[in-house]
Amino acid sequence: MRKLYTLLAALFCISTLLAQTDTRLYDIVNAVSADRIEKDVTTLVNFGTRHTLSDTVSQTRGIGAARRWIKSEFEKTSANCNNCLDVFYQKDLVKKGDGKRIVKDVWVVNVLAVQRGTKYPNRFIIMSGDIDSRVSNPNNFTSESPGANDNASGMAGTIEAARVLSKYQFESSIIYVGLSGEEQGLFGGKGLAAYAKEKGWDIVGIINNDMIGNISGVDGVVSNRDFRIFSEPVPPTETEEQRRARRFYGGEVDGISRQLARYIHKTTKTYMPEMNPMMIYRLDRFGRGGHHRPFNDAGFAGVRIMESHENYTQQHQDIRVEDGIAYGDVLEHVNFEYAKKLTAVNAINLASIAWAPPAPSTVEIGGIVEPSAKLKWNKVDGAVGYKIYWRDTTSPTWDNHKYVGDVTEHTLEGIVIDNFFFGVAAIGKDGHESLVVFPNKIFR
Ligand SMILES: [Zn+2]
Repeated sequence: MRKLYTLLAALFCISTLLAQTDTRLYDIVNAVSADRIEKDVTTLVNFGTRHTLSDTVSQTRGIGAARRWIKSEFEKTSANCNNCLDVFYQKDLVKKGDGKRIVKDVWVVNVLAVQRGTKYPNRFIIMSGDIDSRVSNPNNFTSESPGANDNASGMAGTIEAARVLSKYQFESSIIYVGLSGEEQGLFGGKGLAAYAKEKGWDIVGIINNDMIGNISGVDGVVSNRDFRIFSEPVPPTETEEQRRARRFYGGEVDGISRQLARYIHKTTKTYMPEMNPMMIYRLDRFGRGGHHRPFNDAGFAGVRIMESHENYTQQHQDIRVEDGIAYGDVLEHVNFEYAKKLTAVNAINLASIAWAPPAPSTVEIGGIVEPSAKLKWNKVDGAVGYKIYWRDTTSPTWDNHKYVGDVTEHTLEGIVIDNFFFGVAAIGKDGHESLVVFPNKIFR
């Protein structure tokens, strides 16, 4: 009888591992509320303008009132989870003339809520939205600037993700942050990335949300399922030696931000198969910027999550009617059910990453002029096993994988190294996986 139980227990373990789904992630998807997002976007819009240079004294108008409200929302969430969030401002003084869009000295103030991990408190996955808004003239800090989609939607999603995920405990830390100064030159992200470096934070990546509420595009497409994940190919901080090595060993499309993008793509396809994530192989939209970039500049992984179908008459516009077209980033154009979906995309990825062990730091590959590819990696504390991923060199996604158990090297018999790209991920006890690591060392 006992033998039977042991056998059943073993089978159960194997089946949970093979199922590779965690029902808590479906609960998280369902817990995200479109109503609360609508309420929060409305509140943010009602501050009149949230321009970075706008009033900071009024309790009802301007960026000061907006950031105090965001802080109070994070504090409310924290009060409901036994003070599970550290809520604070992180700020930098930006001087007049630091770029054309800083016409007076200004404190660029970010609002952070940190949910400390139980096992890796200094390891962080970040979700961000922006506090600030703008109209046609980027330096106009007094006109009505609702910024409903750009970017109250991303800010409200971040506040809502904190509410939902604060009901759970994670091994790694999660940061929910409202960044300022985006429209004036990405100052908030730059300040926080520098702060993170100074504090020695081990950052897995930032998932930056900028415009997650528009479903009706200038391209004529209406879709509440498509969205984009922007990621740069390789970090701008790579060394000349790394750049040279890429020419011979590959990795042109396998930087750390790209691996984060693939992770989000895969988690979404697994838990929200009705969604259509588009991986866009570029830093951001053509010639344009977002708040993940300062993190990329600092050598951290970071992606931008965004609607697929934009409407330019509703971005960065004075509210007006011209030639029969109503311009302005107003509340009516935000689809809250869609913002809810993209918030859920964030939440399940934050949770998966924060429940997973860290990725191996070193992955070595060998098998030059041999019939089989060989991989070696360092043991990760907290991992129960490892998965080797590989794909055709032309494929954007990790299409093949093999779970190899709790070992630190493996030979893929009959798989020729030249014909595929390879990577390794660490697997945790509930089946959650680290990001895939592209080999960073060669052995013979
Ligand atoms: Zn904008």
